[in-house]
Formats: sequence, structure tokens, C-alpha cells
Amino acid sequence: MGGADHVQILGIAGFYAQKGVTLQKSVYLKSIVKEHIAVREIDATKALPVMEHFYTIQGEGRYQGAAAYFIRLAGCDVGCVWCDVKESWDRDEHPIMEIDFLVEKVAKTPAKIVVITGGEPLMYNLDTLTKRLQGAGFRTHIETSGAHPLSGQWDWFCLSPKKFKAPLPECTAVASELKIIVFNKSDFAWAELYQQEVPQDCHLYLQPEWSKSEQMIPLIVDYVKLHPEWRVCLQSHKFMEIP
Ligand code: SF4
Repeated sequence: MGGADHVQILGIAGFYAQKGVTLQKSVYLKSIVKEHIAVREIDATKALPVMEHFYTIQGEGRYQGAAAYFIRLAGCDVGCVWCDVKESWDRDEHPIMEIDFLVEKVAKTPAKIVVITGGEPLMYNLDTLTKRLQGAGFRTHIETSGAHPLSGQWDWFCLSPKKFKAPLPECTAVASELKIIVFNKSDFAWAELYQQEVPQDCHLYLQPEWSKSEQMIPLIVDYVKLHPEWRVCLQSHKFMEIP
């Protein structure tokens, strides 16, 4: 953080202190200011916050079983209670990596597919990242809640809408794959709601939330037998114990 930003935080916190704002609220307000500064500091045409990046096997959905390079962007404001990557939520806890560096890393592997995931990757404008990856000959896939404005050029768009922050119509309109995480019985009605929103040729998947698999798999199996346009999706990478 630069000196000017530091002064800015102190100045705003001091202002609220003068107004009699409690310490707890002051810390909260400072966190908002910090987030604002972090947004300003990320130039998505050059670099992005990255929690991890690795070459592995896609464990889910239409491309399940295919080798793919994963880039997990840091930062998420969706807040799913059952999220299994909560450590991705705070982007300030992760390094900002140059797009050039990421493309070079991918190019050192035999990967053909690059999956951009998160966190919530659409918190950032992904036009430059995807243009660079496609320009280097890679397929660009995304896994997103769709809760932020659409950006990027995508060869495959996996939409996984979350009840905690609804997807935008511009994202449901381009879904190649709809993946609904089934955490309880009401998620089947939620799935049907979004089935109406996505394109007709969109692939439809029901995936049990990992910790609820035992209870939800029998319900998903029964549902798919009655509604064969849907498919069961399991997180096969977890069974293979790979990232
Ligand atoms: S959108 Fe993804 S990363 Fe964000 S809270 Fe939900 S499951 Fe976690």
C-alpha cells in the first residue's frame, strides 16, 4: 500500500471516529476502504490475484476426465455457507500475478484447456487474460456463479448459480453447462428455475455438495431418472485425491 493510500485510510477512520462511530464499525469501514484500494490496484489488463494455478484433471462436468490447467483467481463475495475454498475469499491474502507469467506457465505444460475458476473469477474483467490464452492456442473455460458482469472470450462457460448472490441474465444467457450444487431438497426447484433461463442446448448437471453426498446422491439419482435431461455430476478429482 502506498503512503497516500495509508494516509487516506487514517483520514477516513479518523473522520468516523470524530463522528462517534464505534471501533468495530470503524474497522469495518476501514476494510471497505482497503477493498476499494485493492480494486484500484488491480489492472486486469496486466495482472490478476491468483490463489493457485496447477495442471491437473478436470473432475467435474462435460469435460470431466480431461487434462486442464487451472487458474484459481482470488476473491469472492458470494458467500456460500458450504464453500470448500473459503481461503480464496480475501484477494488481499494472495499474490497478484502478471498475465504474461500465467500464460508462460501454461505453455510449459501439454495443456490444451485452461480453466479459470475461483473464488469468483468474474469479479475481474477477463478480456485480456482470455484473449492472451486463446491467442496462444488454448481453449478457455470458466467456472462461475455468474454474479458479476460478463467479460472474457469463452470456449466453455460453466454456470453454477448460487442462492447467496443471484447470477446476472447476461451470464445465464451464455451458459454451456449449468451445474447446480445440491445441498438440500429445495435445490431441485432452484435447478428447475435456472433450467428455464439457460440456452436450450445447455448441458444440465446436478452435483451433491461434498459434505452432504450421502444424503443427496439417492435424491439426485431418483430425480435424474425422472428428468433424464439432467445428469449426475460427481467431483471425481476428490475421489482421485488430486487437486
Ligand atoms: S461462489 Fe464459489 S468460491 Fe465463492 S463462496 Fe460460493 S463456492 Fe465459494
